[in-house]
Amino acid sequence: MLREFKADLHIHTSLSPCADEEMFPGRIIEQAKMNNLDIVGICDHNSAENVIATQKIGQREDIAVIGGIEATSQEEVHILALFDSVQELFKFQEIIYEKLSGFNDEKVFGRQLIINENDEVTGSSSRLLIGATYLSLQEIVQTICSLGGLSIASHIDRESFSIISQLGFIPEGLILDALELSPNYKQRTSSFSGMRINPELYGFPLVTFSDAHFLRDIGKSFTIFLMKEASIGEIKKALSGEDGRKVMI
Ligand SMILES: [Zn+2]
Ligand SMILES: [Zn+2]
Repeated sequence: MLREFKADLHIHTSLSPCADEEMFPGRIIEQAKMNNLDIVGICDHNSAENVIATQKIGQREDIAVIGGIEATSQEEVHILALFDSVQELFKFQEIIYEKLSGFNDEKVFGRQLIINENDEVTGSSSRLLIGATYLSLQEIVQTICSLGGLSIASHIDRESFSIISQLGFIPEGLILDALELSPNYKQRTSSFSGMRINPELYGFPLVTFSDAHFLRDIGKSFTIFLMKEASIGEIKKALSGEDGRKVMI
């Protein structure tokens, strides 16, 4: 039986130094419920350390939580990597951590808080999560694919940290599952310094999520998936329009 799932798969927590410190898992789930979201994706910069806590709270509150990471390639391109299982997600995190150097300066970039399922601060990450990894875009996308994850190029209509802003094009053969448009894409008609971009021309399925760094932005932009259940396999089927599944933005 197919049904519509309202999904915002690009949400940061207080682990991302640039996110508001109120982005605690419990409050994120609360906000997701207020906005009638069925699925949220937790994608902090280069880390997944608040995923399990959010999944536990989501389970209690009947919101599906897909764990992910917003990885930064050496070209400074942001890629969303989402996984069904935390085992695969943490394998991906390990690969990212091996290729991410430096320490966070809290005074410059902000704190990186780790929160438990009771919404209590249990620690903080000392890694430079805001930095770029030494992994190429190709390597990141191939790794996500080999671990069975979903890879989405983040906010392609933004003038920083997007595949289009950094490279100007999408390399041939890159096995992305979708391209993400930022919440403002409709109003701004997706322009780069006044030059219009037409995301349809790239030939990939399009999705839009909030990239929320503040509670008020959760669900500001979302995608509806017509599918059977909240899983990566079903999302992939919806993106490729298989077996009656589809995507609506
Ligand atoms: Zn980003
Ligand atoms: Zn983001």
